[in-house]
Amino acid sequence: MEIFDLREFDGHELIVFGHDAATSLRAIIAIHSTALGPAAGGCRMWPYATTADAVCDALRLSRGMSYKNALAGVPFGGGKAVIIGESRQAKTPQLFEAFGRLVDSLGGRYLTAEDIGTTTADMASVARATRHVAGLGRAPGEAGGDPGPKTALGVYLGIEAAVRFRLGRQDLQGLTVAVQGVGGVGYHLCGLLAGAGAQLRVADVRAAAVQRVCEEFGARAVPVEEVLAEEVDVLAPCALGAVLNAQSIPRLRARIIAGAANNQLAQGQDGQALQAAGILYAPDYVINAGGIISVSRELHGGGTEEQVIADIQGIPARLTEVFERARRENRPTNAVADQMARELLTGRRRKRVA
Ligand code: NAD
Repeated sequence: MEIFDLREFDGHELIVFGHDAATSLRAIIAIHSTALGPAAGGCRMWPYATTADAVCDALRLSRGMSYKNALAGVPFGGGKAVIIGESRQAKTPQLFEAFGRLVDSLGGRYLTAEDIGTTTADMASVARATRHVAGLGRAPGEAGGDPGPKTALGVYLGIEAAVRFRLGRQDLQGLTVAVQGVGGVGYHLCGLLAGAGAQLRVADVRAAAVQRVCEEFGARAVPVEEVLAEEVDVLAPCALGAVLNAQSIPRLRARIIAGAANNQLAQGQDGQALQAAGILYAPDYVINAGGIISVSRELHGGGTEEQVIADIQGIPARLTEVFERARRENRPTNAVADQMARELLTGRRRKRVA
């Protein structure tokens, strides 16, 4: 594998491969940039088909974290860890403790938290081996804990901003929103949207998760293979990455795409296709920064939940700045957000600290 020649390689500072024979841990930590602070980003556990797939994911996700952290105004660079394995079968506390030792060996250059396939309980195991971990349990009113609900809050506020910008509407009453994936983030997002009077259409590969949001929030279930093409005001991808691609974009009938999933665009040029189709795309790492904002307050210690919520309330203004600049320059929103992030990373733009 020619790592330095991979399309996903973007001048990353460090790539570490970790193995622990006793627990069968196979992990990769990628640090994209520490220009703005220690590299922060979650740990994903996924049954990657090949090591190359895992490396590419770590490279892509860690660059995304550099951009996300820069635009969120948190004092962190970008990093990400992946553990190769099926989270429902291969998980043990010892495996996460071994992962914690790997994180600790980097001396604080990388800070971890939960992501897809890992939980608050797993991070508690990591914390037995390192202090460079967040997303742990917390007392009521303290910053921290599961970042999912905080990510959902940021996405909800971002949807409101997108609706104001694209539809000129001040509220969500009666608007239709399709949510793909009603897990940790999607479930909480549905609750917020239903509370604001939106009509929900939801899809998930887990029937029980769909049933729950239908019962609790009056959502209507739609087939997994149809949800992206629903004729709705807003489509909120909250499951997997790369769902906006050359196959799906011609079928989209939403006017706004604003969801939590990381790396929603399969390729940068898909942003152009969305712009050409007149669909307003809220760049994923701008709208889904609520979780890292919570992690940031937790890592610095002494923060309160109230401060986290106040920081998250900055997301709509940042998104609107991206939307306005994209309209002014007639460019795709993802290209504008990438440029704003790169300007922060290279010091050409002043950093805003949350
Ligand atoms: P999760 O694993 O709890 O939920 C994802 C849900 O998507 C699950 O219920 C799963 O069954 C469903 N799903 C999987 N494949 C699907 C498909 N093909 N169609 C429909 N549903 C499908 O994860 P989460 O924490 O809710 O995160 C959701 C997305 O948001 C992920 O892309 C994640 O990277 C991103 N994200 C999460 C956070 C956070 O704080 N948790 C922060 C930023 C970004």
